[in-house]
Amino acid sequence: MSLLDVARGAIARIREREAGPEALNAFLSVADPASLTVDAPTGPLAGVPIAVKDILATTDLPTTCGSRVLEGYRSPFEATAVRRARAAGAVVVGKTNMDEFAMGSSTENSAYGPTLNPHDRTRVPGGSSGGSAAAVAAGYVTMALGSDTGGSVRQPAAFCGVVGIKPTYGRVSRYGLVAYASSLDQVGTFGRTVTDAARLLQAVAGHDERDATSVDRPVPDYEKAVRRGVAGLVVGVPAEYDPDELDPEIRRLVNRALETLRACGAEVRRVSLPHTRYAIPTYYVIATAEASSNLSRYDGVRYGVRRGEGDLVSMYEGTRSRGLGAEVKRRIMLGTYALSAGYYDEYYGTAQRARLHIIDDFRRVFYGGADVLFTPTSPTPAFKLGERTSDPVQMYLSDVFTVTANLAGIPGLSLPIGRVGGLPVGGQVLAPWWDEERMLGVAGAIEESLGGSAR
Ligand code: GLN
Repeated sequence: MSLLDVARGAIARIREREAGPEALNAFLSVADPASLTVDAPTGPLAGVPIAVKDILATTDLPTTCGSRVLEGYRSPFEATAVRRARAAGAVVVGKTNMDEFAMGSSTENSAYGPTLNPHDRTRVPGGSSGGSAAAVAAGYVTMALGSDTGGSVRQPAAFCGVVGIKPTYGRVSRYGLVAYASSLDQVGTFGRTVTDAARLLQAVAGHDERDATSVDRPVPDYEKAVRRGVAGLVVGVPAEYDPDELDPEIRRLVNRALETLRACGAEVRRVSLPHTRYAIPTYYVIATAEASSNLSRYDGVRYGVRRGEGDLVSMYEGTRSRGLGAEVKRRIMLGTYALSAGYYDEYYGTAQRARLHIIDDFRRVFYGGADVLFTPTSPTPAFKLGERTSDPVQMYLSDVFTVTANLAGIPGLSLPIGRVGGLPVGGQVLAPWWDEERMLGVAGAIEESLGGSAR
């Protein structure tokens, strides 16, 4: 029995199922079992197989970001989060499918075809980290890494019935995380349980001098935090996250989870975050503006694929028009417009001011007595493949409850709280900056009280 047996078994399962009629298209590359190593045979994750979203740079497997423009691209260095997971003993079994450059909510924007939801293969797994969420839900791995710019860990976790954590901005290094919207991007973790997701977070969290936005603060014991209980805590329930049109079945599951928190000794209190209605437009102005700048590097010179003949401009045009997909182009155009002279203040400036109001809303409720907030993760369960691809605004609205945490930089977690029509539903715990521990304690209490009825 070798420490590598579990990971080799995981790879065999992935290869077998992904080659057959029940394939999920969760992986863009799978590791060669012969070349696996355990970097830390006595580490806390020694031998634990993990899946890594294809937006995190790895030296042993390609990093495509779900895009044609990076097809076959090999990074010369490794992302800090991956390096740290390996340093804890984890074994990377493959790179997971995703919406191209993490732009999307369904994994349908991948240039390599969509991932299917393991609970119902006619439905999306959510996105953009849909491959990682599906890999955990399908039982290929118990933990996975993803990235969350506006909900891309929490929303697919909800759709696939697993746990997803987006830490405080600055908690995990973004070094080697391909940039989409740098002021919002954060590496996150998936787990089958709250403890699994917390253990992977433990391994990857902490200051990194290679990322100037990572913060030098001690990393608490996250696994212990899961069991710390909720007695005496005040759980805020924001009115804006319970709109009239919310699916009554989802509301019922949220209320049931709140009931378990009350039974564990927490106080549940209605609160208000009045600027929530500006969150989606604010997010899409800021995210597209930052993306238009970050994605200018895919010019055919420095990375990956080169297309187009003749002069420099034809090479740029050929590479970008053929290498990038429709949603990515839409966002580059929107972002370029929002940043252009004459419109900069009207769009980007206004969005930045709205962002401050959204941050202020959170500050007020957290400093006003709420220890954490509890909301649905997404307004609906997993939707059908193709159902929203022709309507970007409908697609963008599936992030309405998740983008605020990225705009404010606070931590958020999604965990399973039951099913509607056989499909998993997620509940979201939001906590103040740096208080992942309290967030994990609340999630741990809900998970334990709901037991099997959450899944
Ligand atoms: N769905 C959102 C978007 O398309 C969030 C994506 C993400 O978190 N990476 O931008």
